[in-house]
Amino acid sequence: MTQTPSAAPSPTLTTPPTAAPTATSGDFDYTIVSGDSLWDIAARFGIPVEELASANGLTLDSVLSVGQVLLIVGSTVPPEDEPAPEPTIEIDNPAGTGWLIPVAGACIPSDDNQMPNAPREYRAGIHEGVDFFTDFACVDVPLGTPALASKAGRVIRVDHIYEPLTQSTLDELLAKVVAQGFTDTASLDRFRGRQVWIDHGDGFITRYSHLEGVPDDLLAGATVAQGEVVGFVGDSGTLESVASPGVENHLHFELRIGSSFLGDGDPPDVVRALYTDAFFGE
Ligand SMILES: [Zn+2]
Repeated sequence: MTQTPSAAPSPTLTTPPTAAPTATSGDFDYTIVSGDSLWDIAARFGIPVEELASANGLTLDSVLSVGQVLLIVGSTVPPEDEPAPEPTIEIDNPAGTGWLIPVAGACIPSDDNQMPNAPREYRAGIHEGVDFFTDFACVDVPLGTPALASKAGRVIRVDHIYEPLTQSTLDELLAKVVAQGFTDTASLDRFRGRQVWIDHGDGFITRYSHLEGVPDDLLAGATVAQGEVVGFVGDSGTLESVASPGVENHLHFELRIGSSFLGDGDPPDVVRALYTDAFFGE
């Protein structure tokens, strides 16, 4: 793969900040500490002192005691133990936005182990894609779940014929990659199982891996529309496909950029932000 992404400047994206703290509303408890007065507390939470008193069955003359719990109603100021807003991550997303998540209704996996750069010690390598598994991606992803073209493009690989891994092939592969200390390209291709690749131009290619099958009429060279079914989820190429077929069904999806992949070498929070932006950004 010698093609590189277009040199066009990609927009710098700032993930939208979470709602400003002053937008917080709702009732919460406040525990009196030494030195508090009703007036102090009302002022701190931006509510009229009379309302604070009446919400708690008190009068303005009531004596407060340390440890007493007051109900704060209608405050626009959050309690102090309000979780801090998520830090804003600035990312420069070379893939841009407009990519369709390749499993209908799915979300970004909750586990960093299913995201790019996660270690794959069994093959002395790293993960280069996003895994969509039942229980981690907001939807069930059982055997046969359609894999959807993430963007329009041209099919450059479609494995109508696929030879499943056997125990002996797998043993040889694992022995090789562990001995050499990295997953070579050919071995990695075997570990991805049955695949479809789509070329989207400008150096972008998506790969749909571990497929159980592909549509009979999907042919290399064909143009596909975004959202078109390009394969069906399976477990081909996984270790489990040999030892215990059916337990590892998931879609492994890669968004390739030139000879690399989106998020290559980035820390987990940045990787997550990049894919969130690619799939859901505007
Ligand atoms: Zn994977």
